Amino acid sequence: MNIVLLGAPGAGKGTQALRMEERYKLKHISTGDIFRQHMRRQTEVGNLARSYIKKGQLVPDDVTLKIVSIALEEAGNKDFLLDGFPRNTRQAEMLDELVKIDKVINIDVDKAVLTDRICGRRSCVECGYTAHISALNGSACPKCGCEMVQRMDDREDTVRDRLRVYEEQTAPLIEYYGAKGILVNVDGMGSPEEVFAEIGKVLG
Ligand code: AMP
Repeated sequence: MNIVLLGAPGAGKGTQALRMEERYKLKHISTGDIFRQHMRRQTEVGNLARSYIKKGQLVPDDVTLKIVSIALEEAGNKDFLLDGFPRNTRQAEMLDELVKIDKVINIDVDKAVLTDRICGRRSCVECGYTAHISALNGSACPKCGCEMVQRMDDREDTVRDRLRVYEEQTAPLIEYYGAKGILVNVDGMGSPEEVFAEIGKVLG
């Protein structure tokens, strides 16, 4: 099963992806995580990506497509879960040329709650686990004990730009995949457990 997770920043894609990876034995491919790894290692891709990510803009398609095709190949081009890709129509078209997508799960969340969710989000520098600051006890990751920090692009000024980019470039993918008959909408307003239960109804 090849799956794409769609949703605005803050919709809970990363949280659900970690659960889905475990339950359905899918290879989780998060372009955001891959870019952040590159930034940490200060590779050429990482340095280029940083200049876009810190402004809340999309990294250029040619760079993004390259890292995705490598990740897909590593996954054997099957049983993967794409999180954060595609983010515009061109990326979706290129993806269609590479592999067959079976289902697209769109996590739907009211716009009004997105900014609070993202600005309050803390992410583990080591394992990528994320949680809202209100659910954390100190700055240690509940999973691995490393430090939970705010991502540089989770600050309010950048979040505004990311949400605008989502509306303009990524939201049209709902129609793109709807027209192909592979889109499923999931209510993302509940707790992570409730949303995961909804996804379970779709995937079995
Ligand atoms: P995310 O962790 O998915 O929120 O991604 C963080 C940032 O990485 C985004 O705001 C973009 O700057 C960049 N990024 C992630 N995925 C993509 C993509 N598919 N295309 C272009 N840029 C991306």
